[in-house]
Amino acid sequence: MVKHKLIFRKDDKVKVIAGKDKGKIGKILKIDRKKDRVLVENINMVKRHSRPSAQNRQGGIVESEATVHVSNVMLMCGKCVTPTRIRFQVLEDGKKVRACAKCNETIDK
Ligand SMILES: [Zn+2]
Repeated sequence: MVKHKLIFRKDDKVKVIAGKDKGKIGKILKIDRKKDRVLVENINMVKRHSRPSAQNRQGGIVESEATVHVSNVMLMCGKCVTPTRIRFQVLEDGKKVRACAKCNETIDK
């Protein structure tokens, strides 16, 4: 059983806090909950060699994103415009949402 809860969701805006893309901001494209890794738009680009295919007859080198570990990214608060610590907030209707620990702005709309 995984005890900790992954706070990230698809389409979240995150800032990279470690590694070669440190300081960059991107949108989460995919989440691998088993491995605690996320795929972030334009982050951790790697060159891959591709075989010739229907789309790309020449084959060659294509650039695409590789996943980064969740500990290397932080969720951005739209209000603070800064990476933020997240806390969970329970709304009056019982819905649980994520909120910025600094300004209380809810991240889930
Ligand atoms: Zn905030």
